[in-house]
Amino acid sequence: MTKKIERFLAEQKPATPCLVMDLDVVADNYRRLHAAVPRAGIYYAVKANPAPEILKVLGKLGSSFDTASVAEIDMALATGVSADRLSYGNTIKKKSDIAAAYARGVRLYAFDSEAELGKIAEAAPGSRVFCRILTSGANADWPLSRKFGCDVEMAKKLLLDAAKRNVIPHGVSFHVGSQQRDPGQWDSAVEQAAWLFRECEEAGVTLSMLNIGGGFPTRYRRTVPGMAAYGASIEESLSRHFGNRIPDIIVEPGRQMVGSAGIIQTEVVLISKKSEDDAKSWVYLDIGKFGGLAETMDEAIQYPIVSHRTGAPVPVAIAGPTCDSADIMYEKADYRLPADLEIGDKLEIRAAGAYTTTYASVAFNGFEPLKTYCI
Ligand SMILES: *Cc1c(COP(=O)(O)O)cnc(C)c1O
Repeated sequence: MTKKIERFLAEQKPATPCLVMDLDVVADNYRRLHAAVPRAGIYYAVKANPAPEILKVLGKLGSSFDTASVAEIDMALATGVSADRLSYGNTIKKKSDIAAAYARGVRLYAFDSEAELGKIAEAAPGSRVFCRILTSGANADWPLSRKFGCDVEMAKKLLLDAAKRNVIPHGVSFHVGSQQRDPGQWDSAVEQAAWLFRECEEAGVTLSMLNIGGGFPTRYRRTVPGMAAYGASIEESLSRHFGNRIPDIIVEPGRQMVGSAGIIQTEVVLISKKSEDDAKSWVYLDIGKFGGLAETMDEAIQYPIVSHRTGAPVPVAIAGPTCDSADIMYEKADYRLPADLEIGDKLEIRAAGAYTTTYASVAFNGFEPLKTYCI
C-alpha cells in the first residue's frame, strides 16, 4: 500500500471493485529491473496491464514493448514509441495479423514451428525472427507449460531453415514460467540457447539475440528473492555458457513491472456459514475469478488480502459474486480475516496490478469489467 493510493481511496471513494495503480511504483520497478540486468533491452509484456498511462510511463523511461496481437501493437504505438521498439512475441498469429503488424512497421517476430515461420516469411518479408524453445516451467507458480516453444533440435532446424527464406534468423527466446521463484531456473535454458548459437554458427548462420523472457516475480503472500538475485544468477549463466561472446539480451517482464504497483479495493457482499458448526466463514466479495482474479485458479496466485479491522483472525473461504461455482478464490489455502469483519466492509487485495484487468470478463452475470485508476 502506498501513501498515494491510500490518499486516493480515502478522498475519491471510488465505486468498487476497482484497481488503483501507482505509476511511481511502476517506474521504480522499471529502474530496479534495469539495475539488475543492465545489459538487457527491456520489452514490457503489454498483456500484464495495458493501461495507456502505464505504457506511456514505460515508453518515456526507454522501454520497448512485447505484444501479442494487432490491438496490443496499436496500444504500444499510441504511446508514441516507434515500431522498431516492438516485438510480436506471440508464437500463434494469423497471417493477416502478421501482415497488419508489418504494415505498421513491426520487424521482429517470434515463432516455434515451421508453419508459423512460413507465415512470417510470406507476410513480413525481411523481418528478424527468433525461435522460442521449450522450458520445464519448474518452480513457477504460473507455469506456461508445453503450449509454447519447441525442443532445441527442432529450433536448430527451423533457424537454419529461416536463413534460406526471406527473413533474418535473429536469435532464440524462452520463458521460464511466470512468478518464477527460483533465479536458478534461467541457467538450463541459457545453456540450451548457447548450444543453439554454436550449432547455428557451425552451420554458417550467426545469431545475435537472446530473449530471456519474463517470469520475474511480484511479492504476494510468500516472500520472493529480490531482483538483484535474478540479475546475478542470469549474468553468471550468460558468462558461463556464452563466455566472452554474450549476444544482445532482451527481457520481457510483465508481472514484475506492474504487480506490486496496484491494489484492488473490493467490498464484502456477504458473510455466511454452511452449517451452525461450520469452522470456516464464507466471505463473498464484489470481485471474483471472472472480475479479474483469474490467477486464483487452483489457488496458484495468493494475493495478500487486508482488512482494516483489528479483530482476531479467523479462517475463511473467499469467493466471488457470480452464479458460477468455479468462482471461489481460496478454499484450501489458509486465509484468515478479522472475526469482526462486516458486510459492506472494504478489503484491499494487494499486489494486484498484473493480470487482473486483462483477465476480467466483459459482463458475466452483468458485472462490469474491472475499472482502473492510474495515479
Ligand atoms: C506473458 C509473457 C511475458 C511476461 O511474463 P511475466 O511472467 O509476467 O513476466 C513475457 N514474454 C512472453 C512471450 C509472454 O507471453
